[in-house]
Amino acid sequence: MSGPRVAVYPGTFDPITLGHLDIIRRGTHLVDRLVVGVTTNPSKSPMFEVEERLSMVRREIADLPSVEVVSFDALLMDFAESQGASVILRGLRAVADFEYEYQMAGMNQQLNDDIETVFLMADVSLQPIASNLVKEIARYGGNIGKFVPAAVAADVAAKLRG
Ligand code: ADP
Repeated sequence: MSGPRVAVYPGTFDPITLGHLDIIRRGTHLVDRLVVGVTTNPSKSPMFEVEERLSMVRREIADLPSVEVVSFDALLMDFAESQGASVILRGLRAVADFEYEYQMAGMNQQLNDDIETVFLMADVSLQPIASNLVKEIARYGGNIGKFVPAAVAADVAAKLRG
């Protein structure tokens, strides 16, 4: 395939963590343009509105010129195609992620066999990080500073204060 290589990295990013950011950085080394796709995903009852998640991700990737942040509410493969992507980027943590990711990649392959799902591992120290645990720790007053950027920790604290 000719032209720039584009990947879509989809997720809820509720909120974006240091794990997500590590995957994004690693992804930028593989493609010319990386589109972070922020899903509206109302079924997950996110803590942050999609507009808030978009601006948090944009703020954290501001130093990465090849990364763009877009929200989407569509079939992932249709979104990827609309972005001219040939790659779906996903992060893989422990076995717990595998089952779901395996199934999703398999079904997406059947929907569009021209788009390849590529899995990356975050730095070992960042692998246990998950947005839902970050939120749980913060709700109980724990320090999430090791898991998310400082500005995101402040956003979570502000959200919890209402
Ligand atoms: P989703 O709702 O699609 O799972 P998430 O925002 O939770 O969205 O995650 C987006 C992607 O980032 C998923 O592929 C997930 O496995 C990956 N990911 C999240 N946290 C980490 C981490 N600490 N290390 C590696 N990959 C991660």
